[in-house]
Amino acid sequence: MTQKTIGIMGAMPQEIEGVIAMLENPVRKVIGMRAYTSGTINGIDVVVVFSRWGKVAAAATVATLIHVFNVTGVIFTGVAGAIDPTLNIGDIVIAKRLYQHDMDARPLMQQFEIPLLGKTFFECDASGIEKAKDAITPLIINNGLSEAIGADVLAEFGIHTPNLHIGDIASGDQFFADNDQKLKLNTVLPTILCVEMEGAAVAQVCFEHKIPFIIIRTISDAADHTSHIDFGKFIEKVSNSYSINIIKHLLSVTE
Ligand code: SAH
Repeated sequence: MTQKTIGIMGAMPQEIEGVIAMLENPVRKVIGMRAYTSGTINGIDVVVVFSRWGKVAAAATVATLIHVFNVTGVIFTGVAGAIDPTLNIGDIVIAKRLYQHDMDARPLMQQFEIPLLGKTFFECDASGIEKAKDAITPLIINNGLSEAIGADVLAEFGIHTPNLHIGDIASGDQFFADNDQKLKLNTVLPTILCVEMEGAAVAQVCFEHKIPFIIIRTISDAADHTSHIDFGKFIEKVSNSYSINIIKHLLSVTE
């Protein structure tokens, strides 16, 4: 069997620092303005990197993970804005399908279709979704996240028990901070749970190289006029801790 190496990408530098702190025998290598740190977690070889923001940046980062570090799987964690009204700040979304909401080559092809691939979305493999679900469910049920983060901080952000959702995510080179923008997306892509800026780009590169990927997002904002409020604080105090705990559990359920 080929040796497994998991690429771990985070959309926030603070999340990545927390994951790097868990590594045994870390070795850092800088390529193209990105620092890739190799090491092991629970005996599994991993390479950890900050994706940087936007589709191009994330695509370039994951391509390096594949070509230079020979990763055999990718786990991506980050924050996202809620599009579906049933999602609350602090909820976790595991991606099922990922759309590039700003891809529009009409009239050459239908809206959202990725040129030359004939696809309007990328699908995560079912076993990866199950693994992520198995890793995250006990964290929620056993109040693991509340313990790790602290009840006072959760209360500050109005987070009660976070809910886990499995569904569709839209990615594009736009930060959503406007209700009209949000409604427009909801109208053209009604199944979307949340919006972010990297997931579907990582999914495309992984699809093209037949590399399995898992994309997990914590809801940081409502993708409307309130989006900018305490964003930094949320990352520092909440999503950081989510990512560290999710990665730890995910790598212990990965066979
Ligand atoms: N920390 C930066 C903000 C980065 S925002 C700052 O303080 O200026 C960009 C990141 O948040 C991206 O990784 C994107 O995927 C995610 N994100 C969170 N909420 C989003 C929203 N409402 N719209 C689009 N991307 C969002």
